Amino acid sequence: MSASGLSSPTVARFERVLRQRRAIDAEDAHSLAASMGDLLTARSDAGADDEHDPEGPTLSFEWSRLDAVQREAAADLHAVDAALSRIAEGTFGVCTRCGGPIGIDRLNARPTADLCIECARSSAV
Ligand SMILES: [Zn+2]
Repeated sequence: MSASGLSSPTVARFERVLRQRRAIDAEDAHSLAASMGDLLTARSDAGADDEHDPEGPTLSFEWSRLDAVQREAAADLHAVDAALSRIAEGTFGVCTRCGGPIGIDRLNARPTADLCIECARSSAV
């Protein structure tokens, strides 16, 4: 029995879930980059002067939105990668702070969790 209390078929199941999620994240990042490229083109076509360009504020707003989505996707990808490397190291499901088991219910809800619920609660404050 590992420190996580998870059986290897369970860890293997999480690995599949995480790999799927990684593929989706990578796809999202790709289409997002394409949208941002389109937007850049639209922006430069519209002219560099945002102030006198009625499309300017709209494009800026859309850019901030895409930028936020991209940051979120990058953060998720990072979390998924970290979880996958914990699987490779055999520490998946073990709280990185207290070393206790994270628990299957929490991992089912959030496979990228690296803290047990108690540590997550205390770090959120
Ligand atoms: Zn903990």
